[in-house]
Amino acid sequence: MNKAINPCIRCGKERIKGKETTIPNAYSDIKSTMYICPDPECQKKVEEELAAKAAKRQSFIDKRIHFSKKNKK
Ligand SMILES: [Zn+2]
Repeated sequence: MNKAINPCIRCGKERIKGKETTIPNAYSDIKSTMYICPDPECQKKVEEELAAKAAKRQSFIDKRIHFSKKNKK
């Protein structure tokens, strides 16, 4: 099978290797490779969407924590 294993969520093109980041860990550094869309414009939009989603999720989590604290007693 020669299918794109990591397609872009917007355009479906196979993503290319982006920047490599090393996350320092107590035991060993974790190497993490970002895969990005070959289309810079598309990648920019994907990142914007991801940032918006992350912000939404965070506010949802914050609300939940607030809610469960309120209903503890
Ligand atoms: Zn794309």
